[in-house]
Amino acid sequence: MAGDAPVVMTGQTGRTFTNWAKTFSCEPELFFEPTTTEEIRQILDKAKRDSKHVKVCGFGHSPSDIACTTDYMISLAKFKQVLEVDKENCVVTVQSGILLKELNEEVLPKYNMALSNQGAVSEISAAGVISTGTHGTGKTFGIFATKVLEMTMMTASGEVLRLSREENKEVFLTALVGLGSLGIILTVKIQCEPAFNLHQVQFSCSLDKILSNLDKHLDENEHFKFMWYPYTDGVVAFLSNRTKKPVQTNPSWFWDYFVGYYVLEFLLWMSTFCPALLPCINKFYYKLYYAVPSEQVDRSDKVFNFECLFKQYVTEWSFPRSETANVLLTLQEWVKSHPEHKVHFPVEVRFVQSDDIYLSPCYQQDNCYINIISYRPYGKDAPKDAWWDMYESVMHKVGGKPHWAKAHKVTPDQFQKLYPMFSKFCTVRKQLDPQGMFLNPYLERHILGMTPQMKFDMKSHL
Ligand SMILES: Cc1cc2nc3c(=O)[nH]c(=O)nc-3n(C[C@H](O)[C@H](O)[C@H](O)COP(=O)(O)OP(=O)(O)OC[C@H]3O[C@@H](n4cnc5c(N)ncnc54)[C@H](O)[C@@H]3O)c2cc1C
Repeated sequence: MAGDAPVVMTGQTGRTFTNWAKTFSCEPELFFEPTTTEEIRQILDKAKRDSKHVKVCGFGHSPSDIACTTDYMISLAKFKQVLEVDKENCVVTVQSGILLKELNEEVLPKYNMALSNQGAVSEISAAGVISTGTHGTGKTFGIFATKVLEMTMMTASGEVLRLSREENKEVFLTALVGLGSLGIILTVKIQCEPAFNLHQVQFSCSLDKILSNLDKHLDENEHFKFMWYPYTDGVVAFLSNRTKKPVQTNPSWFWDYFVGYYVLEFLLWMSTFCPALLPCINKFYYKLYYAVPSEQVDRSDKVFNFECLFKQYVTEWSFPRSETANVLLTLQEWVKSHPEHKVHFPVEVRFVQSDDIYLSPCYQQDNCYINIISYRPYGKDAPKDAWWDMYESVMHKVGGKPHWAKAHKVTPDQFQKLYPMFSKFCTVRKQLDPQGMFLNPYLERHILGMTPQMKFDMKSHL
């Protein structure tokens, strides 16, 4: 009967996908927002018939073109149901388009559960976070993907694979930080923990002092990070630990938003005309905000989250923790010896535990991550190339690996040396997606190292 025929998913034309920082955008030929697994399968069938690449986007927070395509784009913003909650074991199974914000605010509190750890923002999808190796901080906390117990993933053929440490382990360890290159993650089972508050203590001290107490802070605190303010010798440190104390916060719109956001954006915009202002801005904000120690108690996700302010370029690399002091002192020395180049605050320093995920930057290695920001006040760029090129060259010397979500220039040959399981990753990717349906320019550049001729051949085989 005609009425029983499946509804064929249609895509929208004329959509532009732009990332959060407005630094990368693309115009997919067709944009789909499926709500069911069957609709996702129909889109893949159509892509095969039309010889098109397919890219799933999450919430577009990656500061690179990792989620971009000019062929078919799928948003899973409407594919975000909660499928199962195991209260006893603190495990939740969700469709992969759900945002961490929705988990933190709507889903997990109902069951008195919480995510164990996360990064600075929650407006990001579960699948996006897993696919790029998103991380928070803490000596005994791995990247977010280490909390994934099981996933289902649709491959280019339309088959749905169940992946876990017990089932298809090799594909599981490949797909956990899969860069969107293996298939479409449909569902994710996440290990959570009973809901908790975090007690965060914030204080300032010299860079030298924090570096000499690094191991102590890491050993004594569940979540430890700090931010160095170039042109000062100081850092602000954040120590966060689980507590039974009730929520106690002291928000101030005037300081947090008027001075901390609007005035700062204006001052940084002024500095694009007069870069000599930057050292004063850095010193002023460091003194203004962090001269006095402070503390707060809040629900875990509210402490993990951090106000990331306005649009920005970022470069973040991960390297062996033992190199932390060496790297930071090199950066500090460069800023002092290159007064002709001016840089923004903060330089954010975090720590992540090793794991066994093939393309995790922390594969078999406890790492430090350093995130360097260049703000774009009112959308205006500030010079950053000399500072970033120097940082990149320091990273190459210490075996640094770029955050997968963030723009970088690393080639497949270099990744081959940095990641012992890089070849294995490429083999599994090719087995699951032999025609390269899920490739895009980011993957072609950084994973395949494709030439224009190879791209042409690949497209004709889709
Ligand atoms: C303000 C800000 C703060 C940030 N803070 C941190 C931080 O503290 N720590 C950190 O590590 N990172 C941080 N990031 C980076 C961010 O966590 C990552 O970029 C994350 O991937 C964004 O998730 P998303 O949902 O926006 O995914 P997108 O950026 O939209 O996509 C990322 C990748 O995931 C793939 N993908 C998405 N959904 C699927 C799916 N269903 N199946 C297969 N592949 C899929 C996409 O194809 C793409 O390759 C921050 C970014 C911003 C803008």
